[in-house]
Amino acid sequence: MTIPEIMEHRMTLSFEVFPPKKDKPLEPLFEVLDRLYTVQPDFISCTYGAGGSNVGRHMEICRAIQEADNPTLALSHFTCIGSKKEDIKRQMRECLDHGINHILALRGDIPAGWEGTHGDFQHASELIGFLREEFGDRFVLAMAASPEKHIEAATFAEDVAHLRMKQDSGADYLTTQLCYDVEGFKRWLDWIRKAGIYIPVDVGIMPVLNKNSVIKMCLGTNGCSIPQPLAELISRHYDDSPEDFRKYGIEYTVKMVYEYMSLGINGLHFYSLNKADAALEICRDCGLIYRK
Ligand code: FAD
Repeated sequence: MTIPEIMEHRMTLSFEVFPPKKDKPLEPLFEVLDRLYTVQPDFISCTYGAGGSNVGRHMEICRAIQEADNPTLALSHFTCIGSKKEDIKRQMRECLDHGINHILALRGDIPAGWEGTHGDFQHASELIGFLREEFGDRFVLAMAASPEKHIEAATFAEDVAHLRMKQDSGADYLTTQLCYDVEGFKRWLDWIRKAGIYIPVDVGIMPVLNKNSVIKMCLGTNGCSIPQPLAELISRHYDDSPEDFRKYGIEYTVKMVYEYMSLGINGLHFYSLNKADAALEICRDCGLIYRK
C-alpha cells in the first residue's frame, strides 16, 4: 500500500532521520532504525542535504529502509537546489531502481549568498509538476507546508495560494513544518480546506527535549511561535538539569500529540533527529505503539 492509501484507512505513524556527514559511519543510524522498526512505523523518511557534506548519503539510507525485512516504506526527501532536469531524472530513476517510490518534493533552503536555486526549478510546485509529467503515477509525491506561513512568504494568503499550486501540480499529501501552536494550526487547517486543499495532512512533530533547541528552531530558523504554555514550561524549568527539562518536555509533547490527534489529522511524523529513545517514549506514552 502507498502512504495515501494507508491514510484512507487510518492515521499513519512515521519518523524522520537525516544522513550523517560523509566521514561518519552509518552503523549508529542503522541501529536507531532497527529500534524504530520495532514500533512498525508506516514509513521512515530521510532528508536530502543539497550540496552539503552528506550529499548522496540519503540514497544509501533510503535503500536500507526500503530493503529491510519489514513493511516500513522509505520516503526520500528531494530538493531542486542546484539540480538540472537531467540530473533530477537520473536520481529519480535510481530511486525507482531501488523500489523507492515515495518522494517529498521540496525546493530546499537557498544557500546564503545565492540568488535563486541555481537549478532548473525555482519552486517546489515546478518540481512536482515535472515529476508528474516525466514519471506519471510511478511516484507518490508529498509536499511541505508551514502552518505558521513559510518564512519567505509575505502573507498567509500568498503562501496558501502557493500550497494550492503544489497540490494542483500533482502532490498526493502534505507534511507540515514543526508547529507548537496547535490553536494556530487549527485555523490554518480550516483556511487551507476552504482554499481547496483537500489532500491528507501529515503533521510534523518536533519533540520538546531541550529548551535551547526549541528556542533556536522556532526563533532562530523557522519563524515559528512559542505558544504561552510552552513559554511557561521553558520559564518554569529554565534552570533545571537537561534530564529534568527533557522529562517535562516529553509530557508537553505527548499532550500536544493528543491535541493534534483530536483534529482528525491523517498522520503523525516525528522528527526523531537520529535518536530513538525520545520518539519511542512519546509513541508509547501516546498509546501509538499497539495501534495495529
Ligand atoms: P516552496 O513550496 O517552493 O516554497 C518556498 C517559498 O516560495 C514559500 O515562501 C512560498 O510561499 C514561495 N513560493 C512558492 N511558489 C511560488 C511561486 N510560484 N511564486 C512565488 N513564490 C512562491 N530542506 C532540505 O534542504 N532538505 C530536506 O530534506 C528538507 N526536508 C523538509 C521536510 C519538511 C517536512 C519540511 C516542512 C521542510 C523541509 N526542508 C528541507 C526545508 C524546506 O526545503 C524549506 O522550508 C524551503 O525553504 C522551502 O521548501 P518548499 O518545498 O516548501 O518550497
